[in-house]
Amino acid sequence: MSLTAEIETPLDQLFDRIEARTEDLVALTRDLIRFPTVNPPGDYYTPCAEYLGERLRKRGFEVSYVRAEGSPGDSDALPRTNVIARWQGSKPGPCVHFNGHIDVVDAGQGWTMDPFEGVVKDGRVWGRGACDMKGGLAAAVIAVEALIDSGIDLPGAIEVSGTADEESGGYGGVAYLAERGWFSKPRVDHVIIPEPLNVDRVCIGHRGVWWAEIETKGRQAHGSMPFLGDSAIRHMSAVTDRLETVLYPALARRQSDMPVVPDGAKQSTLNINSIHGGQSEAFTGLPSPLVADSCRMIIDRRFLIEEQLDDVRGEVRDILETLTRERAGFSYILKELFAVAPTMADRNGPVATATARAVRKVLGKEPQFICSPGTYDQKHVDRIGKLEDCIAYGPGVLDLAHQPDEWVGIDDMVASAKVMALSALALLTGDR
Ligand SMILES: [Zn+2]
Repeated sequence: MSLTAEIETPLDQLFDRIEARTEDLVALTRDLIRFPTVNPPGDYYTPCAEYLGERLRKRGFEVSYVRAEGSPGDSDALPRTNVIARWQGSKPGPCVHFNGHIDVVDAGQGWTMDPFEGVVKDGRVWGRGACDMKGGLAAAVIAVEALIDSGIDLPGAIEVSGTADEESGGYGGVAYLAERGWFSKPRVDHVIIPEPLNVDRVCIGHRGVWWAEIETKGRQAHGSMPFLGDSAIRHMSAVTDRLETVLYPALARRQSDMPVVPDGAKQSTLNINSIHGGQSEAFTGLPSPLVADSCRMIIDRRFLIEEQLDDVRGEVRDILETLTRERAGFSYILKELFAVAPTMADRNGPVATATARAVRKVLGKEPQFICSPGTYDQKHVDRIGKLEDCIAYGPGVLDLAHQPDEWVGIDDMVASAKVMALSALALLTGDR
C-alpha cells in the first residue's frame, strides 16, 4: 500500500460516509421545506426549530431553544424561535459553528409545483427555501453528523444553529443571539453560513445596505377638482424622476474593488421596493374620488465598501431638499428603516483558507473568493459578536434565491457537505 493511499483513507471514508447519506440529506431538505416558515410573518419557526433540535439531540448534541422575545414581529402567536445545538469533542479546542436561517420569503406567483411539498425531480430538490437556504442547512447537518460518526478523534466543539428572521434583517435571530454571547469567543471561533453562493465559491463578505422610507405630503380634495388639493403622488413622481435622472446615473459610475457577484452588483444599486399613495389597496370595493395626501416609497440602497453610509444618506436627502426649494408645495419625511455597513472577512483567515482548501480537494478546482450582493447574518456575527472569522459557503445557486421554482442540486448538496465536513475537521484539528 502506498503512503498516499494510507493518508487518504480516513478522508475517503468520511466522503464515502457522506455519499452514503444522500437519501438522508434529500429527506432532511424536504422535511425542512415542508415547514412553511414564511417571513413575514414568521410562521412555523417553533416546529421547524424543534425538528432540527430533536434530530441533533438524538445524536448527542446539547440543544438550546432561544426565543427572541421582544424582537420585531415576536409574539406568542408568532414566536421568534431559534435553535442552537452543541456537540463537545474529546478534549478542549476551537468551536466551529454552522448557522442557517430557517425562514423563507413568501412563495409568490409563478410556481409550476407546490412550493412547500419538497418535490424531487431531475437530481434536484424543489421548493421555497430549497436553495435559500434549507438545502445548505441540511448539508451542514449531514456534514457534522458524518464527521462525528467517522470516529476521527475530534477536539473542540461543533455547533449547528437554525435561526429566525434572516430575511427581515436577522434581529430576531443571529443579532439577538449575538447580543447574548452565542456568536462570540470563547464560545465560538469559526462560523460557516451555508447561504446559496454556489458550491465552488467562498463568500467573504457583503455590500452595505440602507433602507429608508420617503413620504411626500399633499392635501386631500375631491378627485373631480384636483386643483383644489395637492397630490402627494405627483410630488412622489418628481422624486422618482430625480432618481432616474440624477441618482441612478451616479450610482452606475461607482464600481467596487470588492469581489462582488454577479458583475452588475459591483456597482452601487438602488431598488424602489414599494410605492403606495392614496387609498388602501386592501379594500376590494370601488374607490372614492380623492386627491392623495400621502405617498410613501421604500428604497433599498446597496452600497460599496468604498462608500460612506453618511454619503449614501446625504445624496438622497440632497434630492429631497432640492425639490423642497424648487417645487411648490413639496414637503417630505425621510425615515431610515435600517442600515448595515459593508463587511469583508480576511480571505487568508482560518475559515476562508480551510474552506477554499476543502473546495480544491472535493471539487478539484480553484475556488473563487466572492462577496455577496445582499447582506446576510455575517454582519451580526462580525459587528455584534466581534467574530471576524466568518464566511458564507453553501450549495445553492445564488441567482435562484427568492425566485419561483427554486431548487437545489442534490450533487451540489453532497459536494458541499464534504467541503463543510473537511473544513470543520481542518479547523478543529488545526490541520490547515
Ligand atoms: Zn438566505
